[in-house]
Amino acid sequence: MSKFPVPDNSCEFFDQEHESMTREQIEALQVERLKETIARCMKNPIYKQRFEEAGITPDSITSVADVRKLPFTTKQDLRENYPFGLACVPLKECVRLHSSSGTTGNPTVILHTQNDLDEWANQVARNLWMVGLRPDDVFQNSSGYGMFTGGLGFQYGAERLGMLTVPAAAGNSLRQIKFIRDFGTTALHAVPSYVTRLYEVMQEQGVDPRKDTQLKVLAIGAEPHSEEQRKRIENMLGVKAYNSFGMSEMCGPGVGFECKEQNGLHFWEDYYIVEIVDPETLEPVPDGEIGELILTSICREAMPLIRYRTRDLTRVLGRTCPCGRNHIRIDRMRGRSDDMIVLRGVNIFPIQIEKILMQFPELASNYLITLTSDADNDNMLVEVELEELFTDDFPRLLDLEKRIRRALKDEILLTPHIKLVPKGTLPVSEGKAVRVVDKRKVYQ
Ligand code: ADP
Ligand code: ZN
Repeated sequence: MSKFPVPDNSCEFFDQEHESMTREQIEALQVERLKETIARCMKNPIYKQRFEEAGITPDSITSVADVRKLPFTTKQDLRENYPFGLACVPLKECVRLHSSSGTTGNPTVILHTQNDLDEWANQVARNLWMVGLRPDDVFQNSSGYGMFTGGLGFQYGAERLGMLTVPAAAGNSLRQIKFIRDFGTTALHAVPSYVTRLYEVMQEQGVDPRKDTQLKVLAIGAEPHSEEQRKRIENMLGVKAYNSFGMSEMCGPGVGFECKEQNGLHFWEDYYIVEIVDPETLEPVPDGEIGELILTSICREAMPLIRYRTRDLTRVLGRTCPCGRNHIRIDRMRGRSDDMIVLRGVNIFPIQIEKILMQFPELASNYLITLTSDADNDNMLVEVELEELFTDDFPRLLDLEKRIRRALKDEILLTPHIKLVPKGTLPVSEGKAVRVVDKRKVYQ
């Protein structure tokens, strides 16, 4: 492609050539780019050995399905080869690295060439254009900058689109609100849990986002959130909120994004080959069935990843869309397999609990799940903030608790303890929200 697409304002596509490809064109490009990627990976001794053991050369690929011949790559591989072991170009060709937090063991490092960064900016710009943003918009990025890819990733993408960009970074809600008002911010990127906090501060300050700001589009992502949470955010701020999916291993934000139809995330198949597999057998699951998302980056130079096991659980929704893009549509993430709570033999995702809580207008958006164990059993406590304070109205509180318990039991098949707390009492993180605290004893 031309390195920097330059669409005109009336065009619905930022990069028409790639966004409006037919399925046949997408697959032909994927085969071509996968072959190139394999050739690039073979310059790395670890990949080379793996491919040789599996008898793979670029010529082994004649269709997209041949990707299944390739070995998987895991986060463990990145950790074991920390920091640069999986680089496919000499370090002198790299211009930036990003790194994940590394709370359990070595952090992971992802390298980028200048071309990788340019393509990443194109991807993000494509997404923002897709939801109607144009160079006369003002884009505020309330995401952490630095090693976290949500900062620089959105920054360069919004600049590539040509918007006036406000690198506000995370936190300091009063300053965020001042910037939104003073600079006429029309579009904001933030993690969903932070958006609800921002709205609370607006309320405290007597700021009405519909009247006192020009906000119209939000990009929300980086953490799992429910459809109910999205609707709340849209109603609170009077905006359209679009789900944004990314991960540092694939570049960062920009991997998948919702279009105006809000019917799932378009994952960009000119950049990635998407598979959904059964996490136990690693065999593909049919469209519509939940499995683990596997991504192969086919357009990256410094550190392409082959069949990367993301641990994110989701499903394919379709491969066509009224918006005119035929890139695969993926459902919002259920969560990562590592986030799944196993309580008394029942598997639960925090998002299932969120979905129920958000259906109660009496409840605010912040909640915390704590798991504990006593002599007999494991227990779950769900603390959730009240939208209004009516803690002295006991019959009303008891009735609400009862209704929440019943609704949760229907969803997760267990009856958790419920604690209703005043708004603003549960912790809020500036980055990704911590929704579960596991205090259970670990016996094994
Ligand atoms: P870390 O692995 O340290 O959290 P990343 O920022 O690369 O660093 O996180 C990527 C992960 O964040 C994804 O694998 C996924 O679990 C989660 N994630 C990102 N965007 C979304 C989203 N829109 N919905 C749900 N989960 C998301
Ligand atoms: Zn679409």
